[in-house]
Amino acid sequence: MLKLRDQSLLETRAYVNGEWVENGKTFDVINPATGEVVAKVTDLSAEEVSTTIDHAYQAQKSWKKLTGKERGALLRRWYDLMVENVDDLGTIVCAEMGKPLPEAKGEVLYGASFIEWFAEEAKRIYGDVIPGHQQDKRIVVLKQPIGVVGSITPWNFPNAMIARKVAPALAVGCSFVARPAELTPLSANAMAVLAERAGIPAGVFNVVPSSDSSGVGQELCANEKVSKVTFTGSTRVGKILMQQCADTIKKLSLELGGNAPFLVFDDADLDAAVDGAMIAKYRNGGQTCVCANRIYVQAGVYEAFAEKLAAKVQSLKLGDGFEEGVTTGPLINQAAVDKVEQHVSDAVHKGAQVMVGGKPHELGHTFFEPTILTDVTTDMVVAREETFGPVAPLFKFETEEEVVALANDSEFGLAGYFYSRDIARVWRVAEEMETGMVGINTGLISTEMAPFGGIKQSGLGREGSKYGVEDFLEMKYLCFGEI
Ligand code: ADP
Repeated sequence: MLKLRDQSLLETRAYVNGEWVENGKTFDVINPATGEVVAKVTDLSAEEVSTTIDHAYQAQKSWKKLTGKERGALLRRWYDLMVENVDDLGTIVCAEMGKPLPEAKGEVLYGASFIEWFAEEAKRIYGDVIPGHQQDKRIVVLKQPIGVVGSITPWNFPNAMIARKVAPALAVGCSFVARPAELTPLSANAMAVLAERAGIPAGVFNVVPSSDSSGVGQELCANEKVSKVTFTGSTRVGKILMQQCADTIKKLSLELGGNAPFLVFDDADLDAAVDGAMIAKYRNGGQTCVCANRIYVQAGVYEAFAEKLAAKVQSLKLGDGFEEGVTTGPLINQAAVDKVEQHVSDAVHKGAQVMVGGKPHELGHTFFEPTILTDVTTDMVVAREETFGPVAPLFKFETEEEVVALANDSEFGLAGYFYSRDIARVWRVAEEMETGMVGINTGLISTEMAPFGGIKQSGLGREGSKYGVEDFLEMKYLCFGEI
């Protein structure tokens, strides 16, 4: 069994209305680095999720009445507990998801930072006063919590993807039903243990692990007591949820797939660009929605960039995330390996060269060698689809105009990155890039202080920053007459 300092954080039951519940059914959580079963977790049905929603609906009635300061104080306590327990929470992330332990702890602190941020923002849900349109009229705008929020999150950040959603929701007075990815429910449960300890009232935060992703998804979308669904995952599933929400005109936030372009211009600081590419490409084994998926390098620096990048990639150490010095864990499952292999073989078949890696690693399981492909062209699958693995395809370009068109030739628009030291070019390219987020001379852009989100088919809404509360608020206009 997974050893923790505080063993009570390894919770396998569901958390419904402040109770830890079982129903006799479970599903397995597998450690991708070893193939071993980490735990058997309670498997709720869609009907049981419906009951949970009833509890969340009741709980929200009193939760919304607390002052922002009171809710903020509880969130702050939750944040403190997450930070105090970062070692155990990181261990759980590493075991169920596979990322190296230091990176797993980094994720926990990143997730916690959203709880800290929105604990502070809870006090700042400002409305508005608008001059009356007639002499006896006054206009006031209230911002009110939307109600019960249903959340569906992926496995690549088992802690942080939930934290980013639950923190603003609770801060403004919503209650929350979290359906974690079936591959990584233990982190969600551990967060609930700490939420309970922090004093978040029963029914305000619920965790409903389930292997029935589509059944639970349908319930969350169709249930009239849920006022909002927030989802992070693939564009494919995002479209299904959007259709399912149509019947109840349910509000939706979607953080979907990306196909991030990463541009290196001739005038870039090449070493900085290589460091940025290492983070933007190989962080989390290439399994983030903001990972650089297409790396475009200007002809004059193409060879030099490729060589510098190869030297760094060769120094990555693959292995079990609990081992000292490991920088890169396994991919999440065999399907992920199959996809990466298909992308590499398609590219090679169409003329790309494998400069580094290119195949499953000798460690077995779902380990895949960090890979660099050169001579990559736009007819290859890697140009169009998100690889979600440690493969850097290097495209060569000649002009700024050409590369901006290439970068924007995608139905996705989440993150984009570029390296240049020419201030006029920096402005031009930043303004032209069709993405919700742009990293300029940096490969790491995520922070609780900035609005994270995409345009085009990469999503709706923003998480983090002062804008992050808006997705969980309704606006109500009051017209006062006879004054
Ligand atoms: P990923 O490729 O990151 O796994 P998915 O979109 O497949 O992205 O999964 C993201 C989350 O959506 C996971 O928790 C998954 O279980 C869930 N999911 C998958 N299919 C559906 C569906 N039809 N309805 C609701 N949730 C779903």
